[in-house]
Amino acid sequence: MTVRIFQRGFNFSQDGPGNRLVYHLQGCNMRCPWCANPEGMAADGCILTEGGAADALCPFGAVRGGVPDAAKCRTCEKPCLAAHDRRLRLSCTEEPIDDVLREIDRSRAMFFDGGGVTFTGGEATMQFDALDALLGALRDAGVHTALETNGSHPRLPELLDRIDFLILDCKHFDDETHRRTVGVGCRQTLDNLRLAAETRRQLLVRIPLIGGFNDTPADAAEFVRVLSALHGDAQCVEVLRYHEYGKDKWRRCGMDYTVRDAFVSDDGYRSFCAALSAGGLRLAHT
Ligand code: SF4
Ligand code: SF4
Repeated sequence: MTVRIFQRGFNFSQDGPGNRLVYHLQGCNMRCPWCANPEGMAADGCILTEGGAADALCPFGAVRGGVPDAAKCRTCEKPCLAAHDRRLRLSCTEEPIDDVLREIDRSRAMFFDGGGVTFTGGEATMQFDALDALLGALRDAGVHTALETNGSHPRLPELLDRIDFLILDCKHFDDETHRRTVGVGCRQTLDNLRLAAETRRQLLVRIPLIGGFNDTPADAAEFVRVLSALHGDAQCVEVLRYHEYGKDKWRRCGMDYTVRDAFVSDDGYRSFCAALSAGGLRLAHT
């Protein structure tokens, strides 16, 4: 069995406790216009440039000014990759999960302060069987596991007993607004969130705070209503403000970045967080 990975690396306590080896799995079922990892969206990966004069690498003239035409690349057999030229590359590599497990085993000394392995994306559950196999093997090996997920996979509950720390993104509470903005409704996410909270696993809810999408006082009140109804300690919430860190990657993937004016002011952020606290939610900062 193989798994498609578009990024890996260590970070400290941002995606779970301690020092962690974080794997970004390729593919996502959502299309958030603010996504910081757009190269992780397409299930089989996308073509992106690493800079430099890449136009001549495409025999079909689909790279102009160093930028690939994402629509043309999507349906192409990708002969440009045969050149193995890093100026134009596929976003992900396909790797046997045994190789990944060996890499994790070699890294164990680095999992200090309660660390371990985190799977994120893209949306890691899109490669459900590979993720399932990896989580099972890591549980058997006694490695602490975390999953960062948009929560929308209907089979997510099957994985919960193999996940020590669950980070679940909660972008909105209204199904239609969620669907209109990211292409998928939020009903399944909220159902999975309720179920995960009932298992009393370590759970962190993440809200990406996006101006014009979910940042009003009424939105904060609705988040409080939904999240405070969760069982146990699950009301631990982290609010992440909109940023543009991924914007240049959209260009390098040949995709349009359509977000405008979504920054949230310092005051807006503070009021939003204050409303969550006043509503009884515990705020986390990682
Ligand atoms: S995938 Fe490669 S060869 Fe195909 S259109 Fe895109 S840049 Fe050109
Ligand atoms: S769910 Fe996450 S990975 Fe998927 S498009 Fe949205 S921000 Fe990107």
